[in-house]
Amino acid sequence: MNILFASPEVVPFAKTGGLADVAGSLPKELAREGQAVKVILPFYKSVKNLDLSLKPKKIGSFAFLTYEDSGIEYVFVVNDKYYDRDALYGDKTGDYPDNYLRFSYYAKSIVEFALHSGFKPDIIHLNDWQTGLVPIYLKMENSPIKTLFTIHNIAYQGLFKNSVLKDISVPRDFYHINGIEYYNKISFLKAGIIYSTAISTVSKKYSEEILTTEFGCGMDGILKTRAHDLYGILNGVDYKDWDPRNDKYIAEKYGPETIGGKVFCKKDLINASGLLEDTIERPLIGVISRLAEQKGIDLLAEAARDIVNAGASIIILGTGDEKYNKICADLADEFPGRVASLIKFDNALAHKIEAGSDFFAMPSRYEPCGLNQLYSLRYGTLPIVRATGGLDDTITDLYADPENGNGIKFQDATKDALIEAVKRGIALYQKRDTWHSTLRRIMGLDYSWQRSATFYRELYSKLINK
Ligand code: ADP
Repeated sequence: MNILFASPEVVPFAKTGGLADVAGSLPKELAREGQAVKVILPFYKSVKNLDLSLKPKKIGSFAFLTYEDSGIEYVFVVNDKYYDRDALYGDKTGDYPDNYLRFSYYAKSIVEFALHSGFKPDIIHLNDWQTGLVPIYLKMENSPIKTLFTIHNIAYQGLFKNSVLKDISVPRDFYHINGIEYYNKISFLKAGIIYSTAISTVSKKYSEEILTTEFGCGMDGILKTRAHDLYGILNGVDYKDWDPRNDKYIAEKYGPETIGGKVFCKKDLINASGLLEDTIERPLIGVISRLAEQKGIDLLAEAARDIVNAGASIIILGTGDEKYNKICADLADEFPGRVASLIKFDNALAHKIEAGSDFFAMPSRYEPCGLNQLYSLRYGTLPIVRATGGLDDTITDLYADPENGNGIKFQDATKDALIEAVKRGIALYQKRDTWHSTLRRIMGLDYSWQRSATFYRELYSKLINK
């Protein structure tokens, strides 16, 4: 199969969240299995800074740069006016106001490459709203190429004023209630949902949740009309990047057999974060997160006093909305030495937190898949999660199922439910004999891409033959 994989962020070139991890690893797994895969993304400043040895390619008026690695060709869309900026989507003041131009240009480039590069994709795998116009542009070219549109987070909808229709070269025929129109605006996400051959999202549970008013963010109605073409495929983990046995960022490498190494990682993390030295004797809860409403950071803040009083410490690494940046910073001021807040994006530190923490908290209001709970398992760091989306699909509560459980799970998005979950976790931590055997067991669980890549491959075949 020839697969063109389009994602606005891809590890190691550009990342703001989990989509980048997925786009960095799924194509590699597909290539390992013998598929011909090309990955296409904008030539951002972050890619430029990597100083890769790149080959130019011109198709019509579109300029590309290509780069080969691990059997994959990465295709970068060049347009400095749009992509040579400090961030991917926006700055402190908000989203870049010309995002509709930046990502319609990206979508046009994807179509140009698909039709005229000589690669001839059987399927284009699109990811999130930034790629949502691709099926419209394909339609305008009468192209029969099949598309799978994966939704990694339905709250990000690519909404713009309808007056931009002309600027993005979308004919008015597409502007109606069963088209790109969305409450008198246009939505790139909705275009992807309506005009793609099929739609998927990143866990079974989230694929069901987005059909409801509670989680659908206004798209549930339109998604229901496509429910037969909607799939849920869980993300996998790239254990080349996320395994304490070969993690270059952590103080001491360790595995299930050498779990004692974890304590050196905890010491290192305590030193790096300004937590009190006696934290080594206390349960330490790690958090790594985009700081957005979705992630339930406010619940954590409300619960912090009880959590600290119960004997635990907290380390937060995150950045995002100013409101939550401040909540986290204030929390560290309120509990000096017991709560550490690092308001930044720092991949090395993310690895240190996975390795050095005893617990990993994800009190999310919703979570399409979530990756850190899966990374945490491999690092022997017990996940404490809210039962939503991919968190619900991947974590089984240890009290409900002591033999197969792999974390602590709570139902309600309330501070009290979170506190209760943390206390249940601490009680397990204090039973030192069973604690380590539980950690060794969860470290052996396998969430690699293999299984999920097979689901994608089968789905691609089904769509190609449709
Ligand atoms: P989402 O995609 O909603 O942000 P996921 O759990 O799917 O959430 O993926 C988050 C990814 O981003 C993980 O790889 C996580 O380690 C990383 N990440 C999030 N915030 C930061 C940060 N401040 N510094 C470093 N890595 C981060």
